[in-house]
Amino acid sequence: MPFTERIHSFNNGIVTDDALDFSKRSSFKKEIMLERIYPTRVILPMKQHYGDEVIPTVSIGEHVLIGQCVGMPAPGTFAVPVHSGISGDVTDIKDITLPNGVNCKAVFIKSDRKRTFHPSVSPRNDVNISASSVMGIIKDAGIVGMGGEGIPTIAKINRARMFHVEELLVNCLQSEPYADSDFVRINNSADYIVMGAVAVAGAAGVSRINFLISEDRKEEILALQAAMERTAGRYSGYSFNFKFFRNRFPQGYYRLVAKALYGVEISETETLEETCSAVLFNCSTLYACWEAISDNMPLVARVLTVTGENGIRNNVIAPIGTPLSELMNTVNGMTDTQNLVIWGNCLTGLEAEDPDNTPVVKTTSGITILPRRDIATMPCIHCGDCSNACPMDIEPGLIHHLLKKGSVEEADLEGAGKCISCGACSYICPSGIDLTKTIASYAASRRTYTTRTHFSVDKIKLGAVSLLEAYEEEEKSDSAKKSDDIVLPFEGGKIV
Ligand code: SF4
Ligand code: SF4
Repeated sequence: MPFTERIHSFNNGIVTDDALDFSKRSSFKKEIMLERIYPTRVILPMKQHYGDEVIPTVSIGEHVLIGQCVGMPAPGTFAVPVHSGISGDVTDIKDITLPNGVNCKAVFIKSDRKRTFHPSVSPRNDVNISASSVMGIIKDAGIVGMGGEGIPTIAKINRARMFHVEELLVNCLQSEPYADSDFVRINNSADYIVMGAVAVAGAAGVSRINFLISEDRKEEILALQAAMERTAGRYSGYSFNFKFFRNRFPQGYYRLVAKALYGVEISETETLEETCSAVLFNCSTLYACWEAISDNMPLVARVLTVTGENGIRNNVIAPIGTPLSELMNTVNGMTDTQNLVIWGNCLTGLEAEDPDNTPVVKTTSGITILPRRDIATMPCIHCGDCSNACPMDIEPGLIHHLLKKGSVEEADLEGAGKCISCGACSYICPSGIDLTKTIASYAASRRTYTTRTHFSVDKIKLGAVSLLEAYEEEEKSDSAKKSDDIVLPFEGGKIV
């Protein structure tokens, strides 16, 4: 076990107090923390990821099955399909607004309580599968980055191929206080994650696979190492390794990974692929990739952490689209409708004003339910704690002040656009000032002008749509490299 390796980290951030972190007790992880939720209905937004809205393919009154496609991208758009995680009847198709401000159509399905699978969901029999087949499966399964990023996974694979990246990084760096859905996935399904990593690495043309994980996640490291040992013999040509990180929040965002691992500062318009020759995938995303490849199961459910007061929580597997109100009773005493319900984890989540009509989406790794409290806000005392906590090395107190008085240009010069919405500054501020809300909104509004550039790799004259479509062209081409072919034997792995 290579625990003596170098520990990577960036400056600042919050070292979270995990003294009460029950997730590190194996009994909690293995016996209690994987309740499966069977909601009475689901609400499936047609825009759940970074990209364009998809178009409903079902109509009101239609009966749908688990794994059935209910939303398809329009030709030429940057999007992946949406599938149903329950069987039942479509009761409505109407516009909804998500807590992040996304406005889109949503398909409402009422469960028939039968849990009937679509005939397409059955284990795949073929044991040899090409890189282009893997990419087709991942695209059709509607898989997107499940750590919160939400970029269609197929687009990221294509970007890795275009830049000929040299290593695939598996992001096991979940670090927000109380959030541990990724660790539950690792402990229950490490084989699926490792197999998914190999499949995606093969598709991306990468042979070096590195797992990024906090050094104190000993149990998860052992689970991954055992899975690697079981898998490594079957895939000559792939190397597996760990990169250990210091446990702190925030962690795992690609720009922080670049800083910690390569000592490189990348701007919001640069990519890890281009700058560091690496591509980063969340471990739950890779689980979903392997589930799609081996079981023919599209992305219809996910593990998420439901956190209540004092960090008491539970991890559940819920179909995508489950209304938050149907998850609240999984944490004792948190069903009161007066509670504050957060769509997401405690520091980076957003308030859900209507939990009955706010669903879990593909990128939701947790929900948080807290009693409402009035927190008095005091003037800034210039303690500097927010600057010390900010992982992007900016001064949140100063930037907040500048934005509030309308000095946008000055705020920009101070680096307001670098904010990654981690919430650390608001968490640490003794005056109770919600610095994140002001700074993150500004940074997000600024990014709307640059996101396309960030993703569309103008330099090689390929638009965002091409990232999705490129593999089809390669498939047709005789020049597809033989080394892209990978063999995926169906052994190991278990479905939780
Ligand atoms: S300014 Fe942004 S990046 Fe810095 S601590 Fe606050 S939320 Fe995080
Ligand atoms: S943490 Fe709060 S009180 Fe301290 S400098 Fe920052 S804004 Fe001011």
